[in-house]
Amino acid sequence: MDDELYREILLDHYRHPRHRGAVGGATATAHGHNPLCGDEVDVSLKVSGRVVEDVGFEGQGCSISMASASIMTEEVQGKPVPEVRELISRFRGLLVEGKDPSELGELGDLEALTGVRKYVARVKCAMLPWVALEDGLKAAEQKVG
Ligand code: ZN
Repeated sequence: MDDELYREILLDHYRHPRHRGAVGGATATAHGHNPLCGDEVDVSLKVSGRVVEDVGFEGQGCSISMASASIMTEEVQGKPVPEVRELISRFRGLLVEGKDPSELGELGDLEALTGVRKYVARVKCAMLPWVALEDGLKAAEQKVG
């Protein structure tokens, strides 16, 4: 994929966010705040039988944080929790650890965020909803015990 295509994917998610809004019957919620940019995101999750049955987000912030949240909800909806955790760590590998996308397997629209890693300040924007998701998963699992 080239930069132009990446930009189009991000813009599309920013303009037409997927899974926007809190989910009904959420088993966990988590809040993320990025003071550097002013991004705020709330992630709500419905985890049942170790599967993310439903996920949604609310919030406001820059196009990167909101596009990342929208892509995230699409990628994790309906996935088993261990797979979601795997995806979080691959995404962190891509953005924070600078791994090559080709080493990380199928990333879907997530790959569109690859360009963000050139801008250190923006990496926090892109990671924000994922960190909130991670907190939400922890909270959901603690509830189950
Ligand atoms: Zn931001």
